[in-house]
Amino acid sequence: MNIRMVDTITQYQKIKDEIDLELNKVFESGAYINGPIVKQFRNNLSQFLNGAHVVACANGTDALQVALMAAGVQPGDEVITTPFTFVATVEVVALLGAKPVFVDVDPQTFNIDPEKIEAAITPKTKAIVPVHLFGQCSDMESILSIAQKHGICVIEDAAQSIGAEFTFSDGRVEQSGTMGDMGTTSFYPSKNLGAFGDAGAIFSNNDELADKAQVICNHGSEVKYYHQSIGVNSRLDSMQAAVLDVKLRYLKEYNQARNEAADLYDSLLSDCDDVFVPYRAPYSTHVFHQYTLRIKAGRKARDLVQAKLNEMGVPSMIYYPVSLHLQGAYEEYGYQPGDFPVSEKLTEEVLSLPMHTELDESQQTFIINSLKQALTFSKTEKV
Ligand SMILES: *Cc1c(COP(=O)(O)O)cnc(C)c1O
Repeated sequence: MNIRMVDTITQYQKIKDEIDLELNKVFESGAYINGPIVKQFRNNLSQFLNGAHVVACANGTDALQVALMAAGVQPGDEVITTPFTFVATVEVVALLGAKPVFVDVDPQTFNIDPEKIEAAITPKTKAIVPVHLFGQCSDMESILSIAQKHGICVIEDAAQSIGAEFTFSDGRVEQSGTMGDMGTTSFYPSKNLGAFGDAGAIFSNNDELADKAQVICNHGSEVKYYHQSIGVNSRLDSMQAAVLDVKLRYLKEYNQARNEAADLYDSLLSDCDDVFVPYRAPYSTHVFHQYTLRIKAGRKARDLVQAKLNEMGVPSMIYYPVSLHLQGAYEEYGYQPGDFPVSEKLTEEVLSLPMHTELDESQQTFIINSLKQALTFSKTEKV
């Protein structure tokens, strides 16, 4: 059985005609950068996001950096975020000369723990960047109310959560990435809405912030060759926009397929006491960018399980093996082991199983049977 962690190839083959047609239009048009398809995709995505502005850019890391720049983050400022995320979230804060201030995560959701945010706020705090990890929204209602109280900007890192919906206590339902002052996403090929290369976007319901982000992405220029601010070069090219515009038509279907795969994993694991399956928060839908288990027995067992799975032809990944406050690159901020115990514990327990839109029942049954065997093996191996 050929099991892939991510299967973008089969996904492409199913909509090949539509994608090839749109790509050929771009090839023939000569408008390789900023062609009409970029605008069309932005409009269609904006509609998907209930009208939020969409600024398209080169990748999800740029999207975060540009959003922080639009929010006015300056050297010396502090930005609160989670240590249990992909490095990009923290990297851009450091690149702007600001200090990443970590707040530990919730052990069930893997997302920033709102109850620990206020203790981390200082007069220098400029922004909070919650990451909707693995496809489920952070507790945005709590985060937004803390941010409002302290006059702090909220930038959602929605790189893994496009299409997830958050329900507020008054019944309002909002799209992930559109609740804070700004949101950012990535269209990296393996993301839920994946391009055939690098691509990203910034979302905002605030006209002024969306304008600023747009200008920053374009070398700080509104009128060609006139620059009122220092910007960057971050563009979405027409070919990526063409692919994304087709795939956007299927995003709901894709997220539904991921949910069905997650439900099946859950039920196949219902008799397994050695793992925690992903928690589903009552306030958010999940789009299962990853299906991430916690192996209760911890690092040694987890690593053995992964090695055994690999032998049996089942790929798996550890997102993420090192909490960011303990990465060499961020040593200067002086964080120590033990500072964020939940995040540290998760790095020892997490294991992400294959998750994509093309999984079938026989593959999933094979994956879970292999996992159960690997778990049994890890127990005998320990003594
Ligand atoms: C993928 C990802 C990014 C970065 O996106 P790129 O397009 O690879 O630059 C940022 N944050 C998170 C949480 C991600 O998963």
